[in-house]
Amino acid sequence: MAATAPLERTASETSVFESAYGGVEPDAAWRDEVLRLAAEKDAVILAHNYQLPEIQDIAHHTGDSLALSRIAAASDASTIVFCGVHFMAETAKILSPDKTVLIPDERAGCSLADSITGDQLREWKAEHPGAVVVSYVNTTAEVKAETDICCTSSNAVEVVASIPADREVLFLPDQFLGAHVRRKTGRENLHIWAGECHVHAGINGPELAARAAADPDADLFIHPECGCATSALYLAGEGAVPAEQVKILSTGDMLVAARSTKAKSVLVATEIGMLHQLRKAAPEIDFRAVNERASCKYMKMITPAALLRCLRDGLDEVHVDAETARRAKGAVQRMIEIGQPGGGE
Ligand code: SF4
Repeated sequence: MAATAPLERTASETSVFESAYGGVEPDAAWRDEVLRLAAEKDAVILAHNYQLPEIQDIAHHTGDSLALSRIAAASDASTIVFCGVHFMAETAKILSPDKTVLIPDERAGCSLADSITGDQLREWKAEHPGAVVVSYVNTTAEVKAETDICCTSSNAVEVVASIPADREVLFLPDQFLGAHVRRKTGRENLHIWAGECHVHAGINGPELAARAAADPDADLFIHPECGCATSALYLAGEGAVPAEQVKILSTGDMLVAARSTKAKSVLVATEIGMLHQLRKAAPEIDFRAVNERASCKYMKMITPAALLRCLRDGLDEVHVDAETARRAKGAVQRMIEIGQPGGGE
């Protein structure tokens, strides 16, 4: 199959293709075959905002992890093809246990979800008996099963604020989101796990300050997992960047803000796949990455070849054992009930 349009790849995107399924170009024949197979298999294709542009464009729905899980649960399709990373497909399976959930490459993990295991969380809980466990949605099903309330980056502050002030809170796994929540709630008894995502941590404060200084009229859209979220609030506090230009947003909320901002240019601090949806939402705005190297190698493992293999062969199927799913579902449902559950990553 020949390519219909040249696709720009970063160096890290290109290198990951060496280990991912390859050899298929995203041309018209590929698109026809993917959609034909999806119809034949009664499958709905969901794509996360950080996926390759061609995967985002062929999906039936594109969005953040929580929005996609909700779409999966509400869908009539018997099969969910989740183009994202493994914990996202697991969350869809937890919410839709009777559906077949497939991920085009089960090796698509997440460095943030991997930063705490079920055993580590059980040990941490034993050190803080009676503490309430709040986990960001970027966690494995096993960790969710040990969790009291899951949260997204949209409602993390409200979830923590809903817990009685005298109860200790264990917040995991992301230290930057945890610092944001502590700053917002002023809570002293919030313990934060020192996990991080390698992509978001690579977007740092000095880089943000330099980009902001070079483009003083630009809005700054910053994901709270980024290493630069703290710096952005500090810069705003110091008057280096006008506070009204700094917007700490989940990926779902970035799309809402893109449609309403009056800015002509926007600096975006999150994984670069997000630029594709932002440019589609507001083509008149000049969206630029704070760090063009911020590309998630796991997200980019979902290649055109992997998607085709997934639909043809029914691989890779995601399983969550029934007891883990039952316990994890309670934490995920509490997340949905609290605050304005917009989007997670
Ligand atoms: S960008 Fe980071 S948090 Fe998101 S899937 Fe990749 S490794 Fe995980």
